[in-house]
Amino acid sequence: INSKLPDVGVTIFTVMSRLATETRAINLGQGFPDFDPDAGLLAQVDAAMAAGHNQYAPMPGIPALRAAIAAKTRALYGAAYDPETEITVTSGATQALMTAILAVAGAGDEVIVLEPNYDSYVPAIRLAGAVPVAVQLLAPTPEVPGYRPDWDAVRRAITPRTRALVINFPHNPTGAVLDESDLDELERILADTGVVLISDEVYEHIVFDDRRHASIARRPALAARSFLVSSFGKTFHTTGWKIGYCCAPAALSAEFRKIHQFMVFAVSTPMQYALSTFLEDPRHYLELPAFYQAKRDRLEAGLKQTRFRTLPCPGTYFLLADYSAISDAPESEFARWLTTEHGVAVIPIAAFHADPDAPASNRQLVRFCFAKKDSTLDAALERLKRV
Ligand code: PMP
Ligand code: GLN
Repeated sequence: INSKLPDVGVTIFTVMSRLATETRAINLGQGFPDFDPDAGLLAQVDAAMAAGHNQYAPMPGIPALRAAIAAKTRALYGAAYDPETEITVTSGATQALMTAILAVAGAGDEVIVLEPNYDSYVPAIRLAGAVPVAVQLLAPTPEVPGYRPDWDAVRRAITPRTRALVINFPHNPTGAVLDESDLDELERILADTGVVLISDEVYEHIVFDDRRHASIARRPALAARSFLVSSFGKTFHTTGWKIGYCCAPAALSAEFRKIHQFMVFAVSTPMQYALSTFLEDPRHYLELPAFYQAKRDRLEAGLKQTRFRTLPCPGTYFLLADYSAISDAPESEFARWLTTEHGVAVIPIAAFHADPDAPASNRQLVRFCFAKKDSTLDAALERLKRV
């Protein structure tokens, strides 16, 4: 077979979750909650099914959900997306990202990604026939202990062939977030280019310490050239529902929908009804920072009593920790060892680099997911204290 993705194997999330199951390890690897969504939300799914909402939804999503997404985006970021022509409900952020990339990138185009990066971007760029160009995030230093975008390097990476730039803040796996000055910088960098911005903001509602999420939707100049992608999986603890969305100006959305209609046509109807009702109450997402901040603090405090050294976590439900005081094994080997010998599964950061063996990518860091019950976090910490 002439493979379209010769270098792609099984995703690290599948690999580590499988290993966790086989070894009965506590799974702090793959990012998903081990608790249920709000009972009220679940009841809405039953109600939608009982009310007969069991057939195809309209291709771009049910009007009520698109209207609710438009209202939320306007209230939070001041952006006025037209639900008729500019908002499309997707099968998770994964499909939205694939669709956006296929919509704009083609043979001969370059698409910039910021490494480490979520693992679906590069395969999507390759399937589009385009060339991924990786720009490294600035690694932590004693002065700046967290990862940061390297805007100068992004500026240098842009060529006449650059078709799109993919960003993801709050950032998986490093937890890095943007502030207003980053948005200023992005505006300046992209101003005289034809580069389309694809902004993966699936963790938009998970930012800590009273930060304000710096969505690209806050800036009309950025929104006018962007696909803004989010996911209800992260926001409402429903990763298994696979429902997300994409907001983009009408011309970009029209191209997006041409592909969306043949990729999935439409996504789960009863879930869309349930989400549209649930989204009407802003508390359902405004309470998320406090909810997850308590879990971050719990994990961080517990890890302080181990030989792991944590990095700052201003956003997402992932915490990075350095294990160099425990082992000098490469990240993937360490993650396997921790899972099989100590019963706690984590994700190696090397998996978020195109070349997992490149020395720069191997910094002796692993990612802990804290979207877990307090009892799960406590049980994992007990084990980690013995490492
Ligand atoms: N982007 C990022 C940065 C993610 O972390 C994830 C999933 N964890 C996704 C996209 C995919 O989201 P979904 O499950 O809605 O497809
Ligand atoms: N995005 C989730 C993570 O980073 C996993 C999603 C998946 O399993 N594909 O852990």
